Amino acid sequence: MSAFERDRPTRRLPIIGFLLLIVAIGFVGGAYYLAPRFERSSPQIKLPDSDVLGLAPVEIAIGDAGAGLKSVAATLSVGGSEHTLISEQYAQPVSEKKFSFALSSKLAGLKEGPAVLRVSARDASLWNFFRGNETVIQKNLTIDLTPPTVELIADDRYVNFGGVGAIVYKASADTAASGVRIGDYFFPGFKGQIKDQPDYFVALFAHPYNVPANVKAVLVATDKAGNSRQLPLVYELKNVKYKKSTIPVSESFFQNKVAPLLQDSAARQGAPKDVFVAVNKKLRAENESRIVAITSKATPSILWKGAFSQLSNSKVEANFADQRTYVYNGQPIDTAYHLGYDLSVTKHYPVEAANSGTAVFVGDLGIYGNTVILDHGLGLFTLYGHLSSMDVKVADTVKARQIIGRTGETGLAAGDHLHYGVYLDGVAVLPVEWWDPKWIEDNISPKLSGRSSEAVAESQRSARPRKAATRRR
Ligand SMILES: [Zn+2]
Repeated sequence: MSAFERDRPTRRLPIIGFLLLIVAIGFVGGAYYLAPRFERSSPQIKLPDSDVLGLAPVEIAIGDAGAGLKSVAATLSVGGSEHTLISEQYAQPVSEKKFSFALSSKLAGLKEGPAVLRVSARDASLWNFFRGNETVIQKNLTIDLTPPTVELIADDRYVNFGGVGAIVYKASADTAASGVRIGDYFFPGFKGQIKDQPDYFVALFAHPYNVPANVKAVLVATDKAGNSRQLPLVYELKNVKYKKSTIPVSESFFQNKVAPLLQDSAARQGAPKDVFVAVNKKLRAENESRIVAITSKATPSILWKGAFSQLSNSKVEANFADQRTYVYNGQPIDTAYHLGYDLSVTKHYPVEAANSGTAVFVGDLGIYGNTVILDHGLGLFTLYGHLSSMDVKVADTVKARQIIGRTGETGLAAGDHLHYGVYLDGVAVLPVEWWDPKWIEDNISPKLSGRSSEAVAESQRSARPRKAATRRR
């Protein structure tokens, strides 16, 4: 009996041990399973950067990298009353939520003035006695619903299709960005360019050759809150006749000029049409987007003076925006717009800078071969392509008519010539206007003098009374 009684605890021991083991496994397993659900990382909240809210959409991003979001809320307190902007609960945890809404759609009778934006988010973690981690952010803001005011001081009555117009305007002090928008293009305005009128802006804008005539330019001014004011620009668009031409592609041009422009030797072995399209479409598009990037970085001051000069003694071989159809073995194989003038004199003729400026690109540019791009300020650039040699470096200051290189036939060029292009804020524009001293005098110079359109018209009337009188009769 005594032995039996003594035996009982020893027999129970393995059972207790086994049970303890089960509990231990349960703990480890449970901890392993539950640990992520007890995570202690709080939700992340991203508020708008601006401290001014307006009519532009308000963007709030909320995320939780751990257990996921359980609920989010946002309120806006204005003038003592609190408005709910967001209030959401999630049955299934959400890792990220993005909100974008117009304040006006959330708040009827929204008032301007100081406001407090409060955003809170709670995650689905079991930490904090199952309540989860919470993040609360408060930001003091100003609600501004009034767009800037703009006043047109001088406008352009006539703009050539594919050419440039210039305006002078005044914008209220709250303006953060302003300029001319047409279609998908934007041409910024620049302040402080006009003597004695530090508040005036000058903007050069184009009616690009590829924007339909019925699309009109608007002057736009936007403030920090994203409120924007638009003023339609009224001008007569003058039709410019653009040519259509056919360019035969010879076997030797194909072998010596087209194919070698492809980097990939396998691509060079392709069918002639494919090789031509790879150069004339794909490489051309790459080169153009590089030019757009270079000529979109405007210097906010005028670096040029007076009319631009055409390469001396040169003959015009091809015009701006000619639509070219390329023909190979009697078959049309591709089309492209020619975005400049082709000028020829003699072989390796010295190339003069069309005006004063700064060299911003010197090097190989695919179909344009050896190329120099000069920055003339206010978004205006000139491009010189197919050069045999280049005599400037990037960042060099260049004087008007300074020799910057020599003509050649590098890139996609048949014969020695200069490809000359003018770009405004990334858009190829009619070069011929800038060669015309009268066009500069009538359209650009008066704007830079800060005189109003009326004052300019008045002075033109009094300077040429006879002419005006004859015309009136
Ligand atoms: Zn050309």
